[in-house]
Amino acid sequence: PLVLGIETSCDETGVGIVRGTTLLANVIASSMDEHARYGGVVPEIAARAHLEALTPTLKAALAEAQVDLHDLDAIAVTSGPGLSGALMVGVGAAKALAISLDKPLYAVNHLVGHVGADILSGDLSGQTRAGDSADTAFEYPTIALLVSGGHTSLLLVRDLVDDVELLGETIDDAAGEAFDKVARLLGLPYPGGPQIDAVAVNGDPNAIRFPRGLSLPKDMEKHRYDFSFSGLKTAVARWVEQCRDSGQEVPVADVAASFREAVADVLITKAVKACRELGVPRLLLGGGVVANARVRQLAEERCAAAGVALRIPPLSLCTDNGAMIAALGAQLVSAGRAPSGLGFGADSTLPVTDIQA
Ligand code: ATP
Ligand code: MG
Ligand code: FE
Repeated sequence: PLVLGIETSCDETGVGIVRGTTLLANVIASSMDEHARYGGVVPEIAARAHLEALTPTLKAALAEAQVDLHDLDAIAVTSGPGLSGALMVGVGAAKALAISLDKPLYAVNHLVGHVGADILSGDLSGQTRAGDSADTAFEYPTIALLVSGGHTSLLLVRDLVDDVELLGETIDDAAGEAFDKVARLLGLPYPGGPQIDAVAVNGDPNAIRFPRGLSLPKDMEKHRYDFSFSGLKTAVARWVEQCRDSGQEVPVADVAASFREAVADVLITKAVKACRELGVPRLLLGGGVVANARVRQLAEERCAAAGVALRIPPLSLCTDNGAMIAALGAQLVSAGRAPSGLGFGADSTLPVTDIQA
C-alpha cells in the first residue's frame, strides 16, 4: 500500500511516503536551532514550528516521491507518546487530510514507529545501513534499544503490528538528555550529543570511572532492564566542580570520553544482556543517540561476541522521521487492521503496547 506518514512528536516535522516496505520520500524539518538558546526542546516553540513547517514538508515529500495525494491508500500519524502540543499539530493535519481526501487514517505509536524504520528499503541518496542490516530482511523476534533526547527504552518485539513488550526504560533522564546536560556543564553548545562525541575522540575513556546506573546486583530484581542517567550527570557535575574548586583546568576531552563510555557501556550491556537472557539473537538500534560513535562501536563489538545480529538503520531513519510512521502504517494496512477513525487524540503518554491508537 502507498502510505503517507506524519511525525510531529518532538522537534522534527517529518513527512514520509512508502509503498509497502519501499521508501519513496523522507523529508524532515527540524526546529532544533530554535531551542539551542534554552538548552533543550521548548514545547511551545516546537508546536509553533510544526505548524509552520508541515505544509512545506508535505509538499516536498509528495514531490520527492512523485505521487499525488489522491493516489494514497492510507495516512498514518504519530498520536503519542511525545509533547502534547507538538503531537496535536500532526494529528490535526492528518485528520484534515483524511477527511478531505476520504482516506483511511491510522494513529500509531512513535516508539513502535522507530522499530518500523528497520523494515524499509530504498535507495534514497546517501542512506546507508550499518551493522548486519545491510541486505537482510527484518525478522522477529528482536530486541530494540531506542535512545533519544526523550526516550531510553528496551523493547521485545515479537511482531511489529501485534506484540511489543516494554522490557525497561529510563527511570529519570533519557540518554540524549544526559548528553545535552553534560555538554552544557562542560560549556559545549546544544545539542550536546554530537559535541561530546567529537570532543571525546581526543580523550581517555578510562580517565575517570563514572557510575553505571542501575547495574549493581541489588538493582537486578526491580530494574534489570531499566536505565538511570541522572546520577551519572550529577557525578560528572561534582567531578567538574571539584576540579574547578581546586583551581585545575577541566580536562574536557577526558571527561567527555569517560562520560560517553559510561553511557555506551550501560546501554549496550543491558541490551545484549536482554538478547542473551531472552534468547533473542537480534538487536535493533534506533533514536538520535545511535549517531554516537562509541555506542555503535560497542554495539558492534559486543553483538559480534555474543552472536547477536545487529541492525542499525541509516541515521536519517534513526532520528525522528515520517517515513517510519508511514512504514508502520503500511504494515497495519497489510495486516488488515481497521483504521483508527477520527475519535483519537494526541496522547503524550501512549504506552508502547498500544501499537495503534
Ligand atoms: P524523541 O525523544 O521524541 O525521539 P528527540 O528529538 O529528543 O525526540 P532525536 O532527534 O532522535 O530525539 O535525538 C536527539 C538527541 O540525540 C539529542 O539529545 C542529541 O544530543 C542526541 N545525539 C545526537 N547525536 C548524538 C551523538 N553523536 N552522541 C550522543 N547523542 C547524540
Ligand atoms: Mg529531535
Ligand atoms: Fe523518537
